[in-house]
Amino acid sequence: MDVIRHLGEPYQAVALSAHRHRERLLEQVRQVRPAAVAVTDDQTADAVEAAIVGSGTRLYRGAAGLVDLVRRDDVDIVLSAVVGAAGLPAALATVSSGKTLALANKESLVVAGSLLIPEARKHGATLLPVDSEHSAVFQALCCGKPAEVSRVILTASGGPFRDAPLDKIQNATVEDALNHPTWRMGSKISIDSATMFNKGLELIEACWLFDVPPDRVQVVIHPESIVHSMVEFVDGSVIAQLSPPDMKTPIQYALTYPDRAPGCGRRMDWSKLFSLNFRPPDFERFPALKLAYNVAATGGTAGAVLNAANEVAVAAFLAGKIRFGEICGTVQRTIDAHQVQRHPTLDDLLAADHWARQQATMMTESSALIHAQPVARGVGADYHLPVQ
Ligand code: MG
Repeated sequence: MDVIRHLGEPYQAVALSAHRHRERLLEQVRQVRPAAVAVTDDQTADAVEAAIVGSGTRLYRGAAGLVDLVRRDDVDIVLSAVVGAAGLPAALATVSSGKTLALANKESLVVAGSLLIPEARKHGATLLPVDSEHSAVFQALCCGKPAEVSRVILTASGGPFRDAPLDKIQNATVEDALNHPTWRMGSKISIDSATMFNKGLELIEACWLFDVPPDRVQVVIHPESIVHSMVEFVDGSVIAQLSPPDMKTPIQYALTYPDRAPGCGRRMDWSKLFSLNFRPPDFERFPALKLAYNVAATGGTAGAVLNAANEVAVAAFLAGKIRFGEICGTVQRTIDAHQVQRHPTLDDLLAADHWARQQATMMTESSALIHAQPVARGVGADYHLPVQ
């Protein structure tokens, strides 16, 4: 919203969407008076409907409403920042309408990159990364031809547990895990940053966006979050994109691409001494990263399963049902139990997503039961696992 306000004409927020953030949505409706809003949560939609009656803003309800919203004739660019696989239908609808998709919802690509990328190509739609790392790679790629790329280097802040002792990570509280050192973000992505599943999702996202295999994507820890990512070309030159950690910069580039406009994000201050640090990631500390590399190499339905199990595990952790250290194990065991389909259709991907959610929910519920009744620990075979 700040970027659109800053850019001014011809940019205009004609449609907004929200799930449960009613107050923030209504505040934004009052500010920009959009032609339409979509609200995916039913109760929230009721409240929003009552609040906007007579305002001239049309309400679209539910997941189907979000798809109808992006298809509107007055929408040219869709900036999707939906959290999770829930963003997939609207992302597919955007590209199949031939519109520009500025994608912050990385889960859409993790689940269905195999469909979203060809669909965009087929309809001549432009897919632009908003994720800061991918915006950086996208910008660096302008310095050479696709065949001249030798490696993509994704930087990672390392999250709040970058230097924490392993046992402290296992039992980290929700408050600890939400306390990201460089970015202020929503709870799902903050927890993903703490487990480093976020970087794992971004690895898979990069493979789809830039058509590179996972063994040519390297993750490097860079605590300052100034170098947002890099591309190494065959001659050994590495091109990096730098800016202070401020999402306004990649959001604006996606909106103005292929042009650049004066920015409203923070600027680098070169008048002070500062240093940039880089080091390799510790796969033992962050097993989620290793898991994501395996999933990226496997392809097919594996990404959908990883993503769904992670969404369930993160929600279970935030609800106090599992320990922080159990998030990755829940995802791993769900993937282990999955029979991968190599060339899935959309229905196959949605079925894999649904199956993984059920599996992971069973695991997190049984884990919650064990935590609630510590005296019964070790007699797991007697537990009645909830079946949905
Ligand atoms: Mg990112």
